[in-house]
Amino acid sequence: MQKQQGMERRTGAGLEDSARRMLLRLIFSCTGLVLCGFALLQFRNDNALLATLEILVGSFLLWAAWKITRVRWLTPWIYGYLLPTFCFQLYIMLMPDASMTAFVWVYMVPILAYLLLGRRAGLMLSVPFMLAAAVLYLLRYADMESAAGLIDVGNAVICGLMILLFVHFYEGRRAVAQHSLERMAQRDGLTGVYNRARFQQLFAQYVEQGQRSSDGFALVLLDVDHFKQVNDSWGHEAGDRALQHLCRVLGKRLRSSDVIGRLGGEEFGLLLHNTDAVAAEQLVQTLCEQLERSPLVWQDRPLQLTATFGVACWPRDADDAAGLYRCADQRLYRGKAFGRNRVISEGGPLLVSDIG
Ligand code: GH3
Ligand code: MG
Ligand code: MG
Repeated sequence: MQKQQGMERRTGAGLEDSARRMLLRLIFSCTGLVLCGFALLQFRNDNALLATLEILVGSFLLWAAWKITRVRWLTPWIYGYLLPTFCFQLYIMLMPDASMTAFVWVYMVPILAYLLLGRRAGLMLSVPFMLAAAVLYLLRYADMESAAGLIDVGNAVICGLMILLFVHFYEGRRAVAQHSLERMAQRDGLTGVYNRARFQQLFAQYVEQGQRSSDGFALVLLDVDHFKQVNDSWGHEAGDRALQHLCRVLGKRLRSSDVIGRLGGEEFGLLLHNTDAVAAEQLVQTLCEQLERSPLVWQDRPLQLTATFGVACWPRDADDAAGLYRCADQRLYRGKAFGRNRVISEGGPLLVSDIG
């Protein structure tokens, strides 16, 4: 129902951002320590050049493990680690005195790629590397003449294929489960719009962005008029359908960058992105009229709904979140006092003289 994702960060690429950072920290630490350990063995083996190289790369990875929770863009770090690591895994299969079991490291390719990059990018990266590894294995080790040789090839290749298949399947299910959990945590169960907590979070982000740039936005608070009567006359189920209907009507007119949230009961909030006071008032006026003109048809009868809207604009009406919220709330209250089914975008708290 709700089109907008507004300023939300996209988290579709595998694990969520903080989990990927922790995983990278673990991977960097493990690889760094292993390389430093191997460097000691290389020194004892009189291979000072390789030992020095391993110490340098290992130390860099240990530094990266510390740094990774603070970097802004994670993806370059992920590719910066995965591509050289996967190339190195292929290279060790080619080394003249490589162990027969060096190829097992290639089984790490899909696991790391899917965990860090998600399903699509994980597949795109894993397939070429695993294909290259299979070709190298066949050229280097495969004995296609004997039954025992064919069994070795079968073990190595089929095991790799199965790991790829299972990881692909698992990551698909995990991503769907994560998406539905995120949705449940952020959405209102009845109407599908954002819940109060998520709306407040997005509101705080809009204010933060407004303080950093010159972008204006509008906060709109709206409350359905005489909704108790709707429940009393039409029944609670019709009331529920009416709230869903209201969100549909609002959602049709709003842009994909705008936000709708249910703040409680029959009270909703809107965040109109990149909008000045004139445009906001016009849009909200249209919403108000549209709602009045679009009754919900309930059991073949029109159920008329109206709402009262209080509009406050950033930066015109306040310079902090609490001030803007208070301003929109006061205008909503004015609208109720002045007769409901209207938009109020000017004025402060209601005074006795306003009513009298
Ligand atoms: P006003 O114009 O002053 O806002 O009057 P009102 O009747 O809308 O205000 P009031 O706060 O008295 O009533 C709100 C009603 O909304 C009472 C409550 O039962 C109803 N309500 C709150 N949440 C839901 C819901 O999820 N479903 C239904 N059907 N009704 C709800
Ligand atoms: Mg109401
Ligand atoms: Mg209310």
